[in-house]
Amino acid sequence: MIIQKTENSRISTFDPNNFSFGNTFIDHMIICEYENGKWGEVKLVPYGPLPFTPAMMGVNYGQACFEGMKAYKDKDGQVFLFRPEKNFERINKSAKRLAMPEVTEEMFIEGLKALVDVDRAWIPQGEGMSLYIRPLIFATEEALKARVANKYMFAIVATPAKMYYTEPVSVKISDHYSRAANGGVGSAKAAGNYAASFYPTQLAIEEGYEQIIWTDDATHEYFEESGTMNVFVRINDTIFTPPTSEKILDGVTRDSFIQLAKKRGIEVKIEPVKVKEVIEAQKNGTLKEVWGVGTAVVTTVFQALGYNGEKLELPRLSDEESYAVTLKNDLVNLQTNLSDDSFGWRV
Ligand code: PMP
Repeated sequence: MIIQKTENSRISTFDPNNFSFGNTFIDHMIICEYENGKWGEVKLVPYGPLPFTPAMMGVNYGQACFEGMKAYKDKDGQVFLFRPEKNFERINKSAKRLAMPEVTEEMFIEGLKALVDVDRAWIPQGEGMSLYIRPLIFATEEALKARVANKYMFAIVATPAKMYYTEPVSVKISDHYSRAANGGVGSAKAAGNYAASFYPTQLAIEEGYEQIIWTDDATHEYFEESGTMNVFVRINDTIFTPPTSEKILDGVTRDSFIQLAKKRGIEVKIEPVKVKEVIEAQKNGTLKEVWGVGTAVVTTVFQALGYNGEKLELPRLSDEESYAVTLKNDLVNLQTNLSDDSFGWRV
């Protein structure tokens, strides 16, 4: 790895009690270029702009995919990544689906470790605080030709993140738009998936909802995901989540929730979740909770479901009664080294 540290650190301008998530970038980034069929050397360089033109293939044809993960600082100042091998596997699954070159484990994991290590001072400490890390791969070849590009960049950038405290939100169960289709790219973290989700989300917001529950494109009869999260439904004391597929992103938080729930002896069923059955459960009072999970917010609890023009309210459970909150706490405690890591997830 080539290491070129900045001579103008911005750390003295960073106030961990007052910063804007997503717009504040740490001092360094990782970059690595792909050309002539192979990746070059990984470089750790000062964060900043790169020279590309509007004819770059990544922005014209959308060969771009990314990951979202976090580093956590515990109360003693030790720093941890959480299950980084899952993100490594997933970025390569995305790259493969988009006909992009896969990265090596060494580039990905060593790049992450080097970046987080050099910019440890940027990782805020305390409840809900973390460093949000964005590894990405995109086509850099300058050519207006609709074909697979032959030049790419792998990069890792990062922004400090704070407790994203979210009030329970109302979500619209989609009856028209979908984020993925059979044979499509739903299970890849393709940049274009996010572009395609913004317009339907805007429409749902105009209707008075905060997010969408994506349903299957063919029938809209089955839950798939919610916003940029995987979705869980609790009926009585059993939790349900749809199986991952080529339409559903294999979320790291989803997998962790499933394992943490099983550890607590909570019954988890990984099976198709039918919209009609959830609505019926809401009507007969057996629907206890619906929530979304993902790296950024960990958990968003839903307070109402929009279905057929109706807003169906969900029960308001206390934190102790709520599986969503209990499992969220289990996960956060594990990530921030407040509990034993019996799963071996901290790195
Ligand atoms: N689904 C989608 C579409 C997402 O963008 C994300 C965020 N990566 C998730 C689910 C949750 O995945 P993870 O738990 O790995 O963050």
